[in-house]
Amino acid sequence: MKYIVYLFALLSFTTSCVAQQQTKPVLVIHGGAGTILKSNMTPEKEKAYRQALDEALAAGYAVLTKGGAALDAVEAAIKVLEDNPLFNAGKGAVFTNEGKNEMDASVMDGKTLKAGAVAGVTTIRNPITAARAVMDKSEHVMMAGPGAEKFAAQQGCVIVDPSYFFTQDRWDALQRVKAEDSTKTRLDHDGAKPGASIKQPGNRDSKYGTVGCVALDVHGNLAAGTSTGGMTNKKFGRIGDSPVIGAGTYADNNTCAVSCTGWGEFFIRLVMAKSVSDRMELAHESLDKAATEMIMHKLGQLGGDGGLIAVDRDGNISMPFNTEGMYRAYINADGKKEVLIYR
Ligand code: ASP
Repeated sequence: MKYIVYLFALLSFTTSCVAQQQTKPVLVIHGGAGTILKSNMTPEKEKAYRQALDEALAAGYAVLTKGGAALDAVEAAIKVLEDNPLFNAGKGAVFTNEGKNEMDASVMDGKTLKAGAVAGVTTIRNPITAARAVMDKSEHVMMAGPGAEKFAAQQGCVIVDPSYFFTQDRWDALQRVKAEDSTKTRLDHDGAKPGASIKQPGNRDSKYGTVGCVALDVHGNLAAGTSTGGMTNKKFGRIGDSPVIGAGTYADNNTCAVSCTGWGEFFIRLVMAKSVSDRMELAHESLDKAATEMIMHKLGQLGGDGGLIAVDRDGNISMPFNTEGMYRAYINADGKKEVLIYR
C-alpha cells in the first residue's frame, strides 16, 4: 500500500512538472509595412484591416492552444491573409511589369532548421502551403516557376487559373506606377494618394502588404513564414526576399523566428532575418536589440525601408519598422492580444 501511495505521488509530481514545462504559446503576424497613415485611412478600411488581422491571429492561435505545432499555426494564419484581397499575397497579389501576378513564399521550422520556399508562382492559390510541401515532401528548399507549380499540384495544393488573382485595385496601381515611371518598382503597402512620395528615389504608391507570421508553440518550437506578391511593376522573373531563407524568413529554436516585409532587395543584401538570429547567438544581444539595430540602423543606412516581426525562444516579441506604419498583431505569452497599424 505504501508503495502504491508513493508511486501515485511520484506520478502526479512528474505530470505536474511536464505541465509546468509547457511553453506559453505566442503568435505574431504582419500584413506589410509602408506608408500607412491614419490620415489616408477611412474608418471602414481600418476596420476591415483590423478584422482581417484578427481573423488570421485567431486561426493561428487556435492551433497553438490545442497543442499544435508552430509550423501549422504559421501556415494557418498566413493562409487566411493570402485569401484576403486586402493583402499583397495570394488573392491580393500585386501585378508585375508584364501584368501578371507572380508570388513568392517560404516557411522555416526552428526545431530542425528545415525550410521550404516557392518563387515566381502564378497558379497556386496558397503559396505558403506549397512552400510547406517543398519542405515536407521534397529534398529541396526552393522551387521556382512552372516546376514549383507542377510539384504543388502533385502534392495536392489547390491550383487556380491565374485570373483568380486579378483585383481591380492592384491593376489600377500598376497602371498608375507605369504612368508615373515605368522603370520603377513599388512597394505595395501604403494608403497614400497615387504618387505619394516617401524617402526613397522613385516615390512608391505602396498600398497593401506582404504577409508573415512567427510562432512559439507549447513544445518550445519556433517557426516563421512569409508570403508575397512582391512589388508592383517588378521586372521579369524578379524574386524578392520573402522566399529567400535567411533574408525574408528564418527560424532557429536556439534564437528566434523572423518574418520580414519591405523593399526586398535591401533585405536580401542584409541577410536580414538570419542577421537578427546571428546577433542573438554570437553577440548575445536581446531579440529587441538585434531586430531594432537591423531595421532602424542597418536597413536605414543602406537606404531601404520596411520592418519585421520576431519572437524568441523565451516568448519575447519584437516588431520594429522604419516606415510610417506596419499592419501587425500578436498574442503574447500572457495571452494579451493587440492589433496595431500605425507607428
Ligand atoms: N519584401 C517583399 C518583396 O520585396 C515586398 C513586401 O514586403 O511588401 O518582394
